[in-house]
Amino acid sequence: MKTITENIQQLLSEIPETVTLVAAAKTRTPEEVAEAIEAGVSIIGENYVQEAEAVFNALGHRAQYHFIGHLQRNKVKKAVEVFNLIETVDSIRLALEISKRCGQIEKDMPVLIEINSGREPQKFGVFPEEAESLIRQISELPNIRVSGLMTMGPFTDDADTVRPYFTETKRCFDQLMTLDLPGVAMDILSMGMSGSYKTAIEEGATHVRIGTKIFGVRQSCSL
Ligand SMILES: *Cc1c(COP(=O)(O)O)cnc(C)c1O
Repeated sequence: MKTITENIQQLLSEIPETVTLVAAAKTRTPEEVAEAIEAGVSIIGENYVQEAEAVFNALGHRAQYHFIGHLQRNKVKKAVEVFNLIETVDSIRLALEISKRCGQIEKDMPVLIEINSGREPQKFGVFPEEAESLIRQISELPNIRVSGLMTMGPFTDDADTVRPYFTETKRCFDQLMTLDLPGVAMDILSMGMSGSYKTAIEEGATHVRIGTKIFGVRQSCSL
């Protein structure tokens, strides 16, 4: 089995320089995350606020932290203290809470809008056609600014099954960029995981979120 360091060196040599590797670190220990940072990862993706706090307390500002899980409003106060960016905003209620809590600590939070590109009813995120209206509302709020889009796509490892969902999200991203909304940037398009990052990069991802291919298979599958 390869080490975390070897896995990261392999990935960094493979992905274009314009694409940023986010290490998806759910269930991983601060020691494992530290090795990833040593090996050259600059952004850590965390799904759980409590787990992220443990990592942050151990490693501090040696990396940036992206929240990539589903954020409950009662966790926002803690989340805005730890995270540099929240990738999974999908409602105005969540955005309002982020805006309010960031205002209290005089912080500006960049966020991504999560797109439910698979249009799966049980999944989080907004449908592509709902993104513009949500972004326009968020752009009116203080202490929060939209920096791009994120999508998961349907849960599959098959590159060609996920491709259309990445294509659709990229189309949405480009269209929003054309609108050039005040206070809104389309800098980050976060899509692709261990089984799909190559396809995501081909379809225009600027950030890929990779867990298994860095850290190995998770003991407990807690997506
Ligand atoms: C776990 C997770 C990933 C990484 O998944 P792998 O298949 O382990 O690479 C990416 N994005 C999100 C939102 C995740 O929860």
